[in-house]
Amino acid sequence: MTVYLVGAGPGDPGLLTVRAAELLARADVVVHDRLTSAELLELAPPSAERVDVGKQPGTPVDQGGINRLLVEAGRSGRCVVRLKGGDPFVFGRGGEEALALEEAGVAYEVVPGITSAVAAPAYAGVPVTHRGLATSFTVVTGHHRQALDAEVDWEALARAGGTIVVLMGVAHRGHIATRLMAGGRDPGTPVLAVRWGTRPFQEVVRTTLGQLGQVEVKPPATMVIGAVSALDLGWYSRRPLLGWRVVVTRAPGQAAALVARLAEAGAVARSIPVISIEGPADGGVALAREAGRAREYHWVVFTSANAVRRFLPLLRDARDLGAAKVAAIGPATAKALEEHRIVADLVPGTYVAEDLVASFPPPPQAGGRVLLPRAAVARDVLPEGLRSAGWEVVVVEAYRTGRPQPGPSADDLAWARQADAITFTAPSTVNGWLEVAGREATPPLVACIGPVTAAEAASRGLHVDVVAGSHTITGLVAALEAEAARRGGRRGPSPDR
Ligand code: SAH
Repeated sequence: MTVYLVGAGPGDPGLLTVRAAELLARADVVVHDRLTSAELLELAPPSAERVDVGKQPGTPVDQGGINRLLVEAGRSGRCVVRLKGGDPFVFGRGGEEALALEEAGVAYEVVPGITSAVAAPAYAGVPVTHRGLATSFTVVTGHHRQALDAEVDWEALARAGGTIVVLMGVAHRGHIATRLMAGGRDPGTPVLAVRWGTRPFQEVVRTTLGQLGQVEVKPPATMVIGAVSALDLGWYSRRPLLGWRVVVTRAPGQAAALVARLAEAGAVARSIPVISIEGPADGGVALAREAGRAREYHWVVFTSANAVRRFLPLLRDARDLGAAKVAAIGPATAKALEEHRIVADLVPGTYVAEDLVASFPPPPQAGGRVLLPRAAVARDVLPEGLRSAGWEVVVVEAYRTGRPQPGPSADDLAWARQADAITFTAPSTVNGWLEVAGREATPPLVACIGPVTAAEAASRGLHVDVVAGSHTITGLVAALEAEAARRGGRRGPSPDR
């Protein structure tokens, strides 16, 4: 089988190529380096073997061993993905691995990646070329002191002009600066150093060539030397939740949208599900019965997308709803209805039961019936409110919330203890969290989707800092962003601190 030498990009999982994602998804073996982010490894099937050939800085690299491993794995007939940071052929020793496979007669393919030499500066606000400032850029290694002196003509590089991008050069930065200045580069030349580029905990140091040896820069970092480094196109650093670590507690399969929104805002979000959505206790008998006579109701009211997804597939025919009107508590529920080609007749202005009751029409003179398929455990505001308005209300269990098996791992809980914030999207997530993780593991900032969830959290002794004004995922992220702005956008520390 083929060994794929795949560029993993600089870190941001969004910078993986489509081809790389496709190959990861069907890998049997993933051979990766120390700097590979966990999110990328998650793209491989759970059953895939993951081999860390982590090259710790300072330890001698056994490239021969890695080559032999790739040859053997390739011969075993499995789909082997050799995942390499950035681009495999830019200081990645990908060429050597390809040669070894070539010599052994093992089929291989190369999937180029986005190199950190260009991407890390871009996320730090610096284009490596810029009209009027630099018409070329050179990517050079600053790794081995001997090789550095013997193989890189720094003075000539200095004279050649253009931007100089140095990879693996942090340890020798003072020496590199001295040589570039000896070649004629001005000590005032702007320098940018980016550590963990394209990641939410990206660190940026701005200095000058003359100062480079004295300022603190920690590896792994990309250094950019040249006039372009004075530019600061701060699109990434302005992300409202940059570096925030946020726990998402939704059920498995329902967390993705919130995790994605948080990531777009710059946060590192981790899904730690504390509830699971399960079928009704009676196996769905009552729900199926009511679905079969849905046309006998004037209204069917849904208070969650979960109820929609349990109820609608039970209709044998879309017309089984007859003339019954349909209400949705909020936009996510309405969207779930639309997936079944049903447009909600009523969505209240604010997405809480009280408002749904207030915006509900009065029953007809001859009496009216409402079907309410919903969670086993829920508040009584809706049925009671509708009943006191004169409606006959039938409540039927559509689903139950349980605890996911297995629960959060020790690693999840340790991560949560270090996190900046936690999000709760329903009272059940509050109770689930306190049961499986406990108050002691709760991050300092608690954000709730609405007043009902907030009240539950407060009643369980949590201090609620953020309550979304609009009770949706979008509203929740917006409220967190506003809180971050209020706190001056505090950044989370990098993972090795
Ligand atoms: N093949 C890789 C480079 C491998 S050399 C690529 O194309 O990106 C490893 C060096 O790359 C590190 O020492 C550091 O200088 C740089 N580097 C890799 N990832 C980085 C990141 N996310 N931010 C900044 N520099 C990075």
